[in-house]
Amino acid sequence: MQAVKPQPPKTDRVKKAVESGLLPWFSTNARDLPWRRNRTPYRVWVSEIMLQQTRVDTVIAYYLRWMKAFPSWKALATAPQGDVLKLWEGLGYYSRARNLHAAAQIIAKEYRGDISNHRTEVFLRQFPGIGNYTAAAIASLAFNEDAAVVDGNVIRVLSRLFAFGGDTKSAAGKKQMQAWADKLLVKGRAGEFNEAMMELGALVCLPKNPQCAECPLRKVCSALIEGKPSTYPVMEKKKKVPHITVGAAVTMNRKGEVLIAQRKQDDMLGGLWEFPGGKLEQGETIQECVSRELQEELGIKTVIGEHVITVKHAYSHFTMTMHVYRAAIVSGRPRPIHCADYAWVKVPDLGKFAYSKADLLVVEKLRKALGGEKTGKKVDAAG
Ligand code: SF4
Repeated sequence: MQAVKPQPPKTDRVKKAVESGLLPWFSTNARDLPWRRNRTPYRVWVSEIMLQQTRVDTVIAYYLRWMKAFPSWKALATAPQGDVLKLWEGLGYYSRARNLHAAAQIIAKEYRGDISNHRTEVFLRQFPGIGNYTAAAIASLAFNEDAAVVDGNVIRVLSRLFAFGGDTKSAAGKKQMQAWADKLLVKGRAGEFNEAMMELGALVCLPKNPQCAECPLRKVCSALIEGKPSTYPVMEKKKKVPHITVGAAVTMNRKGEVLIAQRKQDDMLGGLWEFPGGKLEQGETIQECVSRELQEELGIKTVIGEHVITVKHAYSHFTMTMHVYRAAIVSGRPRPIHCADYAWVKVPDLGKFAYSKADLLVVEKLRKALGGEKTGKKVDAAG
């Protein structure tokens, strides 16, 4: 006889469990996170942007440093972009920092740094970097507007509560998740509801090992009733991400200064500084690639010297191996042809600029080499 699949619970039963179980559970189990204290639209906004694609543990230190440097919209609006990117350095997805900076400039100029009277999701969506999720999160957490948020944690909880066997990343799947979240939202307590759902996903309804025995929603959870909660959400097979090989240069002048270039604002990692270089083309050696890139990016002819370091890094949609070589200029003076700017910088001052994680490793290597620390291959940074 064929086994009968248990029917998903009605949303009203789940909703009752949310009110009587999840919200009380949250009030005693909520983590004490810095952005949960002294909530203002600004503090909530910054935390929501930082938390996109980034773990809470990583965000805490960045958030505290940020609030110290830029305690208000006005302080952020008047800061130079270099300072903003420097504080974001290592957090990734740098367009978030640039958009936050741009939003601060609009809010400082158009709203005198106060948006407390403009508290709707629709209003928030006009700002750079604010999509549906972030608008709902800020509207509910800062203004308690009745808007339900659906992030990765909430998707996991919902797909298990309703034993959803579809693809949560498809348009239909996303629509279904939002519909369930909207239905379960406790009106007038939206901020608390959203945080409780996210906290349950982060602390109890874990991806691999859900702690169902401790879950305030266990009595209404279809995936648990079926006996296989961790099989939800149903995962699509991961697509292989492309890999690129990059050549870059540590170019030094007679004064021992290093040549760095600033990426164009519209490029990936826009506004950050880098050791100039670029993608390896077919049939090229790395050295040929480095030499061509320096010519194209800065108009200088170089000879390529010894290998400095090889760095591997994974971005969200590709992985990269960057081979860095020493270079010396044989003719021409740098001009910013395919970059926003360039600078000659003493090695101890390299840390004053903001870089991506991969370039930051090159900076560290150079600084350690100059300080005489053992770092593997020797780098003659002063030569
Ligand atoms: S019972 Fe288990 S699977 Fe269901 S929501 Fe709770 S922790 Fe997640």
